[in-house]
Amino acid sequence: MKQSSNGLPRRVRMQWMVGLATLGLAGCGESLESPVSEAGAREPVLTYEAFRAQAWREPDTGIYIVDGDTPVVDEAGLRALYQDYVRGADGEAVGTERAPLIVNRFNGADDQWGYTRQRNIPYCVSTAFGANYNTVVQAMAQAAAAWQQVNVRFQHRGDQDGACNATNNNVVFDVRPVSGQPYLARAFFPYQARATRNVLIDATSFGNTAPWTLTGILRHELGHTLGFRHEHTRPEARTCFEDNNWRALTAYDAASVMHYPQCNGSNRGDLSLTATDVAGAHAAYGPLADASFDTAFYLNNHGDLRNAFGATNWAAAQSHWATGGIHEGRRGAAHFDAPYYLAVHPDLQAAFGPTNYAAARDHWLTAGIAEGRRGSREFDVRYYLDAHPDLRAAFGTNYGAALSHWLNAGLYEGRRASPEFDVGYYLRAHADLMAAFGATNYPAAMDHWIFAGRHEGRRGAP
Ligand SMILES: [Zn+2]
Repeated sequence: MKQSSNGLPRRVRMQWMVGLATLGLAGCGESLESPVSEAGAREPVLTYEAFRAQAWREPDTGIYIVDGDTPVVDEAGLRALYQDYVRGADGEAVGTERAPLIVNRFNGADDQWGYTRQRNIPYCVSTAFGANYNTVVQAMAQAAAAWQQVNVRFQHRGDQDGACNATNNNVVFDVRPVSGQPYLARAFFPYQARATRNVLIDATSFGNTAPWTLTGILRHELGHTLGFRHEHTRPEARTCFEDNNWRALTAYDAASVMHYPQCNGSNRGDLSLTATDVAGAHAAYGPLADASFDTAFYLNNHGDLRNAFGATNWAAAQSHWATGGIHEGRRGAAHFDAPYYLAVHPDLQAAFGPTNYAAARDHWLTAGIAEGRRGSREFDVRYYLDAHPDLRAAFGTNYGAALSHWLNAGLYEGRRASPEFDVGYYLRAHADLMAAFGATNYPAAMDHWIFAGRHEGRRGAP
């Protein structure tokens, strides 16, 4: 994130735009009032040497920082960016996309976390922040919460904070202090290797950054860590063009948390997610699980569907579930398994028959949850409340609230929810799974148990 140096500005000053790709195009560094008239007046295309000279190179990591806060890990990446800049400057390919939140592209594919990682993105916060450490911990948690409206989960690994550096492989990224940088903060994209997956916060972020807060700055940076690009690289911004290595997820949004206000953005307050940002993130990462169905779980664990529809075609997955999957008795969520539900509740089997899974699902939604019935081998709400006194104290016999807690928090905390399966035990007891998923990736361990481990005869509980 790069700050405007003269408030919210009548004129954008050249020095904001250290981003190399932005400098060669009309609009940047010029007045905001007449962008249309400037749009046709392109500046000469830079040579590669001049282009490279405008990039800021971080002394500690050696990587290039362009467009204010966007890292480019090596010179090959910089050359590729230059080619895009030249194409854009020549007027080809620009202006063809008309959709909003945009996801980075790398090697011909959307650059975003896969299903197994998106629900467990651990990070550390360096204790080197000193007096600012608690401030950063809280701001990161608040920024993460904003993005967790969709199906992603960041997880602060406080036990790693004392060794929070670029070589710590117990986290996906590290959050560390820097000083003297030309940015407030910078982040990374998912494709990058661990060594450059850092969120670096410059000391200036702890000074006066009004109207932005540190939380707002980090909301922007965490957007990058999920693969989202600067919204102002879209042609609609008419300035601050970066490159065309992105794919639109929604319509252009001048108020996006990913749009620099100083690039013809419309946001004049703190940096916050708009409804369009949330819609775009939904398109990339999928909806949250509901009371009987988990779209991402369904699409990613049934290989035939994933192959047929693609890994992020949520609408196709939902349609398949409603018209086919539920009737076939396919598994649609960890917390609800229609064949199991009928099998363990003889009254329902007597009422509906042994294979009327849609009726079983309807019963679960309209009565079973509230009655505290067991929904799957892995989720038994009465066991869940009995095993966790804090939840019993909070929810009593409100089984619907207990289910919501498990869906939104308990699974991610590794809380046991069944006499027959303990997800925390399962992950800790199997070193191969720990190595594959990470020490705290409970959602991935849950899926592994359901679709593989149980059938392999692995032990699921102590
Ligand atoms: Zn940025």
